[in-house]
Amino acid sequence: MFKRMNDINTGDRLSNALKGQVLTSQADLDPKDKPLLEMADWCQQRNTIVVLKSGTILTVDPISRDVQNCKTMLINRGIRPGRVVTATQQLITLLLANVAGEEDEEEQRATTEAESSISAQQQRLRLLVQEAVTADISDIHIEVRPEVARIRFRKYGELYLHAEWFPRLGREIASVAFNKETDHATAHFNPLVPQDASMPLRVAGQEVRLRLASMPAHGGFDVVMRILGVGDAAKPVTLEQLGYTPEQVYIISRAVQMPHGAVLLSGPTGSGKTTTLASCMQLIRDTRKVYTIEDPVEKVVPTVTQVPVNTDKDDRSFASFGRAALRMDPDYIVLGEMRDEDTANVMVRAAITGHLVFSTIHTNSAPGIITRLVDMGISQTLLSDSNVLVCLIFQRLVPKLCKKCNVPISQSTHAKVYLDRWRDYFGDKYEHIRARGPGCSECQKTGVSGRSVVAEVIWVDEPGRRFIRACDMIGWESYLKQKGWKNYKDRTIELVKEGFVDPGDAEGIVGEISVYSSEEGFDYNRIREEMTQYMNNNH
Ligand SMILES: [Zn+2]
Repeated sequence: MFKRMNDINTGDRLSNALKGQVLTSQADLDPKDKPLLEMADWCQQRNTIVVLKSGTILTVDPISRDVQNCKTMLINRGIRPGRVVTATQQLITLLLANVAGEEDEEEQRATTEAESSISAQQQRLRLLVQEAVTADISDIHIEVRPEVARIRFRKYGELYLHAEWFPRLGREIASVAFNKETDHATAHFNPLVPQDASMPLRVAGQEVRLRLASMPAHGGFDVVMRILGVGDAAKPVTLEQLGYTPEQVYIISRAVQMPHGAVLLSGPTGSGKTTTLASCMQLIRDTRKVYTIEDPVEKVVPTVTQVPVNTDKDDRSFASFGRAALRMDPDYIVLGEMRDEDTANVMVRAAITGHLVFSTIHTNSAPGIITRLVDMGISQTLLSDSNVLVCLIFQRLVPKLCKKCNVPISQSTHAKVYLDRWRDYFGDKYEHIRARGPGCSECQKTGVSGRSVVAEVIWVDEPGRRFIRACDMIGWESYLKQKGWKNYKDRTIELVKEGFVDPGDAEGIVGEISVYSSEEGFDYNRIREEMTQYMNNNH
């Protein structure tokens, strides 16, 4: 019969035919049947081997030691091992995925009906996205190289290896994603040029929105899929839920009530700016007309006209759509991102012609927004016009400790030099600080669960405009501090003191937390001492 089920479509048909015949199927097993459940677990972990009820062993590698182990396990459980048949990784994964399905029957039927008309590759793509959504990850990295396609997941900022595929499967999944599933159905995937697109996908009864980007690499290419929202999560949450303080929310809602001007939101890539922007939109009353120019549309806000741009084409850029929106009798205009002088000019023009404008920009602080706009070619005189800037926001994301398994800082695994440094810094607050614990089922063994915004919000007032005119950002910041303003670093330290954030994670955002202030500069003598101590502790 078949020696190698190489053809993926054959594999797909086979997988449906074989579905009910899998011996190591967790779904069909009696929970009391411990030995077989163990085997099912074992197969699930290997992800290269499946046993049928007939005793036939399907495997990607018939000469691997796993096959021998599998036979021994079967004999120990009183089952006679049958033939060993070579199968593709796709088939094994599909069979294991079918047995691991946790959807209830109705959903399963709906999903099957909806998916019966799609190819095996499309199904595999959905499976991958479903795995990612279940594990609460933010980005899927597919790295296709001549020998292997690596699938890595990013969770709370860190990457880990999820699976290794045959390169061919990686190539197939990438092209099916771009060619069959994206919003612009005209997109044709070419691994030799960078491409991007947005992809709405229905997975296990939920609507998932993803943004795709590709980049050629030596010997292959990378595709990164960012998960923008799942089901209800695609709808915006409130600013408080994101981690803004009540004072900051109050200032932002005052800004949203202004008749004209610009509210600018900044932060590094992946700091959740789009999510915050969608939450701001919810503060706007229904009686106002809002145009949002986005690349691509990420969170669906009812009551708002959302316009997707295509940054590859000049006539469909942020700037040209922004200018067009100005002719559409708007009250509010949201420019997804200010990347160039052209878009920044549209922002200024919309503000001084009596509209309220929202936009995002990449900077490292709220005052840094001014420096960036000046770099883009907008004059300080224009920026300090009282009709232009209303409010500047900067945000970053910090991992929040798992509520269930966090531990007192004294029981954490941080090196002693760090603990000493933090004890010096926090003084009598030190005892209240919590740290990442061993991990539990609720946080998937990571010790952290979700992320919180740490933000700084500046209301641009008359003294502020004087600092802008002089382009004196350092002077402005110390003036703001005298007035009780807190920057995002202060906010991060607050969260550490309150026991919500591990000081180690906080350092990833604010840099070293120590009594040595940044004005003293980097101290090489101290580093030498610290290093010696660190080496001694780790030997
Ligand atoms: Zn936990």
